[in-house]
Amino acid sequence: MTTGIVYSPEYLEHIPTRATHPEARGRLILVKQILDEYEIFKHPSIQLIEPRQATPDDVLAVHSEKLFELVKRTSKEGGGYLDTDTVASPRTFEIALLAAGGVIEAVEQCMQGTIENAFAIVRPPGHHATKKRAMGFCFFNNVAIAAKYLLRNHEMDRIAILDIDSHHGNGTQDIFYDSLEVLYISLHQDPLTCYPGTGYLEDLGVGEGEGYNVNLPLRPLTTDEPYLYAINEIAIPLIEQYQPEFILVSAGYDTYYRDPLTHMALTTYSYKEIFRNVKALSKTCKNKTFVTALEGGYSQGGLQQGVLTSISEMADLGIEIEDVPPEDYQEANYEYTQKVVAKLKNYLSPFWNF
Ligand SMILES: [Zn+2]
Repeated sequence: MTTGIVYSPEYLEHIPTRATHPEARGRLILVKQILDEYEIFKHPSIQLIEPRQATPDDVLAVHSEKLFELVKRTSKEGGGYLDTDTVASPRTFEIALLAAGGVIEAVEQCMQGTIENAFAIVRPPGHHATKKRAMGFCFFNNVAIAAKYLLRNHEMDRIAILDIDSHHGNGTQDIFYDSLEVLYISLHQDPLTCYPGTGYLEDLGVGEGEGYNVNLPLRPLTTDEPYLYAINEIAIPLIEQYQPEFILVSAGYDTYYRDPLTHMALTTYSYKEIFRNVKALSKTCKNKTFVTALEGGYSQGGLQQGVLTSISEMADLGIEIEDVPPEDYQEANYEYTQKVVAKLKNYLSPFWNF
């Protein structure tokens, strides 16, 4: 079986106009460079997947018509600011559709059984885009659109989304906050110290969605060990109990210790462990597959070593990356993380068994 990789040079054509914008095309150039260096696309276990554009119907199942039209019109008029950090260029509308459609194509091919799992190397990212608002470099919520696509087109009723970006995926939370058809689990840097300032422990969902929105805020400078403890104590047991029909990973690599935008302290070891675990977990669920979509990540090491390690685990390529551990970290964060995990388990105990 093979791992699909969604990629297209068209993803470079969304060009936020501010010269220093961190969500720049260079991010994907770095990713492509390392994959070429390791001859990943020539590997028999890897299959390149051409993305397609998401249809208006796919997008409107998640976002308001007003947002859809705003992104379309702003791009058509040559670009412009949708908020202080979210800047459209002339082709942004089409490329944002191609990003969402890339994740749809990945899940569709997994469902057809042509590939075992897939990594969608897409931009612009998606997890900050709410039902009604483009924000945080995101226009349309790629992972939410793919989840909704599976719910609608494959008659599913249980999708798990694991969000490992350093920022809270406020958009994904907003879209599925009242739904039990999507279990959203996000580990992120504490909202008190990090954009967008949402993602508190107490935000569990509403109505029938209560208990299906799980936030795990972590202190700045949290290292691999406490991070993986939190994954093992919360994310894995919840997904095991939920028995999703499909797992989606919102993979941001801004948790990497050299990221310029956020302040977590992970090395590639965490990504290796996360993807090894998610792959094993996917085998215990119906359909036995999962799709990873690129979200943030703004350092060379996070994007290159992080993505390469993740793909290596997904496809069993056995690539070992030697990483230099961070010099700046907080030892006390392990104890803090244990306390947060215990508190979260307590909040979740009416809904889940631990
Ligand atoms: Zn991020």
